[in-house]
Amino acid sequence: MKNLLNNIDLNEALFDNTNIGFVPTMGSLHEGHISLIKKSLKVCNKTIVSIFVNPKQFNNKKDYKKYPRNIKKDINILKKLKVDFVYLPKIKDIYKTKNKIKIKLKKQDNILCAKYRKGHFEGVIDVMTRLTKIINPSKIFMGEKDFQQLLLVKRYIEKNFKSKIIPCKTIRNRHKLALSSRNILLNKNDFNKASMLAKDLILFKKKLFKKENLKNLVIIKKNELIKKFDIKIDYLELRNTKNLKLTNRIKNAKIFIAYYINDVRLIDNY
Ligand code: AMP
Repeated sequence: MKNLLNNIDLNEALFDNTNIGFVPTMGSLHEGHISLIKKSLKVCNKTIVSIFVNPKQFNNKKDYKKYPRNIKKDINILKKLKVDFVYLPKIKDIYKTKNKIKIKLKKQDNILCAKYRKGHFEGVIDVMTRLTKIINPSKIFMGEKDFQQLLLVKRYIEKNFKSKIIPCKTIRNRHKLALSSRNILLNKNDFNKASMLAKDLILFKKKLFKKENLKNLVIIKKNELIKKFDIKIDYLELRNTKNLKLTNRIKNAKIFIAYYINDVRLIDNY
């Protein structure tokens, strides 16, 4: 595996390669990231993984500072997986060229995390645009765990570049909690709570198949979860998976949640 520490290294390493698979990450790698990487290794000639904690997508400075970083451990994981390249850019490698495209979400996109984390997706699309320009991959592997991010990035990148976004299933631990780099920040009690909440919502979704007036049931569930787990919920909503519109039908729908356990913000969809 080659470590690419700047854009000169990167251009040298990639210039004569085709069918490049790219897995963008913010590090603190877990089995969720690993599933994306394995998929890329399977279908692409070369696989490049980036580790870059992108300051622009954090709407809260404290959150950026406390975001977990484990670079040595990450590099060992990537070596073992036989990844071809790990790209470890500095802020100036990504942001030295001023972006001339002003990213603005459509009004109807201002839902879920876009509503509660102002500027977050503009930051994500900005960095994904810059990374795609620098790397020029054939395929970019992204997780359904961040479903809204996946849809927005897919729409934006596939409109402006030749690269294809490949969606990958959410990986959960044996307690059904979606793996996330932020899980490290949870104490044992909160980790157990988050796992119980995940199980609770998986069961709740199953039950919705036989019910009517689903919007109302979701509102009742939201209040129940707040009391049961003593958490702050940004949103709990049933939305269509194609267009993310609110829906009252379970077909092609997912339950989306964002919540705070103590100070840690977690998101998931079922
Ligand atoms: P992050 O490092 O959190 O920015 O995530 C990098 C990529 O890994 C994104 O495409 C995420 O959607 C994906 N990812 C994160 N957690 C999981 C998971 N539990 N299962 C599948 N993909 C994931």
